[in-house]
Amino acid sequence: MQHPYTIILAPNPSIMTGPGTNTILLGSGTGGATVIDPAVDDPTYLDAIVQEGERRGGIRRILITHGHHDHTDGAVALCERTGAPIHAFNRKGVPIADEEIPDGTTFPVGDDLLRAIHTPGHRFDHHCYLLEKARILFAGDVVAGVGTVVIIPPEGDMEVYLNTLKHLQELDIAEIVPAHGPTLADAQAKLAEYITHRMEREQQVLQALEILPPGATIPQLVQHIYTDVDPRLHAVAEWSVKAHLLKLEREGLVELLDNDGWTLVRPTA
Ligand SMILES: [Zn+2]
Repeated sequence: MQHPYTIILAPNPSIMTGPGTNTILLGSGTGGATVIDPAVDDPTYLDAIVQEGERRGGIRRILITHGHHDHTDGAVALCERTGAPIHAFNRKGVPIADEEIPDGTTFPVGDDLLRAIHTPGHRFDHHCYLLEKARILFAGDVVAGVGTVVIIPPEGDMEVYLNTLKHLQELDIAEIVPAHGPTLADAQAKLAEYITHRMEREQQVLQALEILPPGATIPQLVQHIYTDVDPRLHAVAEWSVKAHLLKLEREGLVELLDNDGWTLVRPTA
């Protein structure tokens, strides 16, 4: 029997994408093949996708997890080569989409069913795709096999992201296939670890605001908190700290001062 999915690694390695984007092929026989996240307009890479697609009955559709370039840039070329339409949550997120697919949309994949699960937070338009009988989640950028998931406001939102992780915890998932890095065999342990990590970071932001003088800027907070992270990643960490601060601001725990610095909101006696 054929393995339920094939990963084709896109030739786009970088500090943000790790070894590159995992492009997924699923399905077989008369139902044809489904492609998730054709990432690059590169002929050799697209050849490999088309070839594997033919082995799986011919490419019928292209699914996008979200509108970041490293998930969409090969979609138009692949659509032109195969005639397969591009599906995404909405055109606001992915303007090249032929069809918008809401949460819960299902596609036949071999003798299984692939379900779109709306999972915003990393980006407002994010879908994961769950292969139901096999209990395999194609997680896009909600979970990373290497490095960390970056939340960049305003398209990303920490509170929404945490709710997405909690929503995924409620689903019957055995294995996670992220868009970057290796497959994660223990899905539930990974989701729990992600939530714990984010809550720890949030506590660190609050503690840093406690220690630093009022009006601490985001770079100052990163300097204080991210002592365990390569300084080359501090620019990325600034986005995460900003995402945490915006969540805490909404919760009434911190406020932005005139100098672009942040302070704790002290309860009035
Ligand atoms: Zn992304």
